[in-house]
Amino acid sequence: MKLKIAIQKSGRLYEDSIKLLKDCGIDVRNGMNKLKAEAENFPLEVFFLRDDDIPQYVADKVADIGIVGENVLYEKQKSVTVVEKLGFSKCRLAVGVGKDENYTGAQYLQGKTIATSYPVLVRKFLDDNNINAEIHEISGSVEIAPGIGLSDAIVDLVSSGSTLFMNGLKETETILKSEAVLVRNNELSEEKLAILSSLVFRMQAVKKAKNNKYILLNAPNERLQEIIALLPGMKSPTVLPLAESGWSSVHSVLNENDFWNIIEQLKERGAQGILVIPIEKMIV
Ligand code: ATP
Ligand code: MG
Repeated sequence: MKLKIAIQKSGRLYEDSIKLLKDCGIDVRNGMNKLKAEAENFPLEVFFLRDDDIPQYVADKVADIGIVGENVLYEKQKSVTVVEKLGFSKCRLAVGVGKDENYTGAQYLQGKTIATSYPVLVRKFLDDNNINAEIHEISGSVEIAPGIGLSDAIVDLVSSGSTLFMNGLKETETILKSEAVLVRNNELSEEKLAILSSLVFRMQAVKKAKNNKYILLNAPNERLQEIIALLPGMKSPTVLPLAESGWSSVHSVLNENDFWNIIEQLKERGAQGILVIPIEKMIV
């Protein structure tokens, strides 16, 4: 019994999807242009597909699970279950208009023509805002549409905004924030759910590890309590005496988001020799 996973064949999701599996200890070798591969050391069969097709394949149970961007998932409107947000391929679906336009809000779009590859999501956005606008569906290079007179505005995926800028556009409203997610078929057997649960357990350990750092530092004993208070750790920090009297070595785990803030405070309290080390897996 193997769980079948659909991932993108090539493109912006591919590398991170393969890396995630690898970080979970699952080796997938896909020869050039192969559509299918088997993991060596986990009951997983991998299908390489276009990202647009992944929701459909999972809904139809050709694949049991899949990795796909939320943008594609919600555009396709297939009935599948989101199991886990994966934290990569972050981007947003945003409205772009000519850089000199005065965009004051969604009402700007009233009566306009909008080019997009996401007609479903754009229609929903327009309906939610009571706007009448014409949608011009195109499959790629959406950002050139206003320049060639095809549309007044666009709705497209943006990460840095440089593509819009290069085409004389500016980013305005975000209609969806997106990242890669793991989805599953709604009706998996008990056996498949058990494999999925062990896969998700590994993914969560990898994700937690990515968001946390291992920190080691030397602390003067007279300020040890203040320093420990800044470092909650998984249970509590490890404190070991240094060979030099009056000093201790403190080991703990820090969340990436608090990182710079806490480092500053540690320094202010006399911490020295601070080492910050990536964590590979984290099981709490
Ligand atoms: P396919 O040939 O599989 O249909 P594609 O050309 O449609 O590929 P890609 O450009 O590879 O798609 O993007 C795949 C997904 O990566 C997008 O659906 C989105 O979720 C995410 N993505 C797109 N653009 C960016 C970006 N600039 N930064 C990060 N993630 C992005
Ligand atoms: Mg695609």
